[in-house]
Amino acid sequence: MTSKKGKTLNFQNLEIEPINKIGALEVGKYGTRAEQLRELFNIGLPIPDGFLIPILSVNERHNLDEFQLSRNFDDLEGLYSLRCSVLDNTWGGVNAILNLGMNDELVNHLVPVLGKKSALAIYRRFIQNFGTAVYGLEPDLFENLVHEHVRSSKVLDDNQLEESSLSQIVDDSKNEFERWTGLRFPQNLSDQIDLAFDFLCREWTRPSAVILRQTRGAPEDAGLGVVLQKMVLGLGSDFSGSGQIKSIIKDTGESSLHGYFLPNSQGKDVLLGTRIPNVLSEDQRISEGQSIQSLEAMHSDSFERIKKMVRKASVEMGETFNFDFTIQANKLYILGATIAERSPRASVRIAVDLVGIGALREEEALLKVEPYNLIEFLHPQLNPGVQRDVFGNGLPASPGAVSGRIVFSSQSASALKAKGEAAILVRLETSPEDISGIHDSAGVMTVRGGMTSHAAVIARGLGLPCVVGVNSVNINLSEKTLTSRDGRKFLEGEKITLDGTRGQVLGGSAEMVQPVISGAFSKLMDWADKYRNIGVRANADSPQEALLARNFGADGIGLCRTEHMFFEKQKLLVMREMILADTEETRSESLKKLLPMQREDFIKFFQIMDGMPVTIRLLDPPLHEFLPHSEEEMAILAKSMNLPLKKIVDRSREIQEFNPMLGKRGVRLGVTLPEIYDMQVRAIFEAVSYVNKKSSYTVVPEIMIPLVSTNREVELIKSRIKTICDEIQIELSCELVYKLGVVVETPRAALCAKELSQSCDFLSFGTNDLTQMTYGLSRDDAGRFMRVYLEKEVFPKDPFRSLDFEGVGELMLMATKRARKENPEIELGLCGEHGGDPSSVKFCKSVNFDYVSCSPYRIPIARLAAAQASILGKNSK
Ligand code: PEP
Ligand code: MG
Repeated sequence: MTSKKGKTLNFQNLEIEPINKIGALEVGKYGTRAEQLRELFNIGLPIPDGFLIPILSVNERHNLDEFQLSRNFDDLEGLYSLRCSVLDNTWGGVNAILNLGMNDELVNHLVPVLGKKSALAIYRRFIQNFGTAVYGLEPDLFENLVHEHVRSSKVLDDNQLEESSLSQIVDDSKNEFERWTGLRFPQNLSDQIDLAFDFLCREWTRPSAVILRQTRGAPEDAGLGVVLQKMVLGLGSDFSGSGQIKSIIKDTGESSLHGYFLPNSQGKDVLLGTRIPNVLSEDQRISEGQSIQSLEAMHSDSFERIKKMVRKASVEMGETFNFDFTIQANKLYILGATIAERSPRASVRIAVDLVGIGALREEEALLKVEPYNLIEFLHPQLNPGVQRDVFGNGLPASPGAVSGRIVFSSQSASALKAKGEAAILVRLETSPEDISGIHDSAGVMTVRGGMTSHAAVIARGLGLPCVVGVNSVNINLSEKTLTSRDGRKFLEGEKITLDGTRGQVLGGSAEMVQPVISGAFSKLMDWADKYRNIGVRANADSPQEALLARNFGADGIGLCRTEHMFFEKQKLLVMREMILADTEETRSESLKKLLPMQREDFIKFFQIMDGMPVTIRLLDPPLHEFLPHSEEEMAILAKSMNLPLKKIVDRSREIQEFNPMLGKRGVRLGVTLPEIYDMQVRAIFEAVSYVNKKSSYTVVPEIMIPLVSTNREVELIKSRIKTICDEIQIELSCELVYKLGVVVETPRAALCAKELSQSCDFLSFGTNDLTQMTYGLSRDDAGRFMRVYLEKEVFPKDPFRSLDFEGVGELMLMATKRARKENPEIELGLCGEHGGDPSSVKFCKSVNFDYVSCSPYRIPIARLAAAQASILGKNSK
């Protein structure tokens, strides 16, 4: 017989383990509850003894009619509970059955301990619970018997009934059980265990339970382990009861002992709400303003023991737990522990605090935090408690949440900002000329586009919440309205909210939780830097972004998209002049005007980065992107350039391409219109010379050529760069050192990495375009169908978000091997949006890249992911 985990299970000869035995259990064999009970016993906590039954494939168990769990035990006596123990607590479980073993004889043994009334009350409850859970009888059948006696005895509730009435109810309950099942109420512990186990298995394999589990990530045939444990009653005349302990505040991770205790109770009684429970500690009582006593005041011995145990469990098990406990006649028992629930923000604080108390090493703490949890520290988020009036869903292109007024154009965004109000820019899609409008917006929503579309990339860089591919809404630009699928119409100026973390658009404004860069966050980041051995650089296109990148702890700039610098108003005009020029002289005039502007930008970059590496990519997009798109804008340009409108319209048409992303862009511009790259390279070197003369460090710029597909392209650009460098060294009497590299973003460049690495100092994988071209999948249109593709599991993940290891990754691996073989010194990096995705960072570490480069707001995430990859890589060596 084989379980999902590939282990052979012999149901007649189970490897049953006692709970209380020194030594760890085989991981995954008995389930989490069992493993934790064993560990709690090992560290000296008082755990009632019992047995751990390994995870069984219950589907197979059902084929064994003769199987009886009880046959695995000799001489069991007393009362037991049967609880499930599964591989992953988040899958959910099955309700426990308590007090197995209760019968006509045992009830009499309990009388001296509990008193006759309490003993009869347990028996009555057991018959009811067993009958309803195991045999599916209606609880009312049993409850009605109690009500009748309460009524005829004229008392308030069952606690006030006479012994004789309780004894009668027990008999009547057994009769009722027999009437509906045709069976005598089982009196034998073994029978009760077998029946209860059968119930647990049935519940576990109910179709609705299986489906629910599957939605939480469980495999269809997930097995079930069980724990058969001696009961600690929690009842009696000496101080007894049961409760729950929580050791942290869920939202913040701050340690705080709190919880509830209910005298004379067991199991989940404390949660039933039939009696008001006591709080755990005095601090809790005061902070909650409770008048009811605390356990600390009622039974300080138990409270002190709880305090010590909670700390001990954290210190020795390296985790923070919640506990179920029972006090029986003044003696405390721990019945089980579950890992304390926590918000993403709290997970950071908990990990850092566990190092503080010596429970974890720094490396272990780093591995405990999911890198994406850091997002909460970097952007405002929607308050978890708010009602979400979602009217549109799209892709979560840039995290964080924001409320603001709808605007449909960049100009309106700037106008609203000028009035001091937050604008949400709503567009079909954005283009480079929207950059200043995006800068002036508080958030961006587009109907089209994927995770690496223009809006997504720019918003991520600026840290603005952004949702793209919201194709369930319609925009009417002439009416200035946005209409949702269910017919709701929003006018320009109306308030909406974007949740860029979840990819939702909501009506109205909503309450936010502001980011707090706490001590724990900074500490975790310091540790990340200590343990990571892969660089994390930033994609930054403006001095402001470079500053942000430094604040977030970048090791340098891995990609400066120089074209973004040209979209500033003043530069855009000169750029347009240059593009519209029809002679070399006029073009050169415009380039002369652009040169000092570029130089100024580069000077700022180098100064902000203080000697760290700065990688500057030469112009990449097709030129038409810089030209105005509408006739109206063209007319404005014609006026400002003193040219006839026709000339502008004609020239625009002339440079239009059928497929601009595969057209005259990147290095193809550099080869065909070399003056543009010449100007950029000159600006870089002049800036380097200026900064070097003024500072104690030496800037070594990294010049990067985009969209390369042959080494000849590199050779042509390389020789011009060298000529310019030589000229400037003489002109400015300086010494310049630089590195030259290419963006590997066409499949051909990846395949020809051997040749490219002969001419280059570095290769940086541009995984946005590389993904686009490897799949033949437009990064700007992917949003139209990505959600369906993900739902239908055509793609396991959005390949523009998380690197596709099988295809794009394979290509990168091949290129990496070829490049390193040819040039062992070559530096390798990644500068697509994947640089901020933890699993992609881990891939880069596994192939020993020197760095990844990502949007500034992703840097902390990448630093943590890099540390995790480095630690795991070291451990696996
Ligand atoms: C890329 O293609 O991965 C890249 C970094 O460049 P861009 O996103 O500007 O095309
Ligand atoms: Mg690219």
